[in-house]
Amino acid sequence: MNKSAIETTLQSKLGELEERLAQVSKDMSKSHSADFAEQVTERENDEVLEEIKAETEASVMNVLAALARVREGTYGQCTRCGEAISPERLAAIPEAALCMSCAGK
Ligand SMILES: [Zn+2]
Repeated sequence: MNKSAIETTLQSKLGELEERLAQVSKDMSKSHSADFAEQVTERENDEVLEEIKAETEASVMNVLAALARVREGTYGQCTRCGEAISPERLAAIPEAALCMSCAGK
């Protein structure tokens, strides 16, 4: 994969993640019900949304870091051991920062 193709892939992934974040924030700001039983459900729902939000934000950071590595010319190298990350792994997880063996540790 060439550099601009990688950047395009990462940028579109970033766009999807930002859309998800916007959606989650919108869901979280919805007004709460006056009914107590429903409030409990809503609170549990909020916790799930918080988790999704935290995961999505972490993914955004990973994708941004991967884009920085593309610009630095270190994309595709493991950030821990410096070995090349396998193309199969990068195809599955374009923002992967670690090679298979480091990620497995
Ligand atoms: Zn490694």
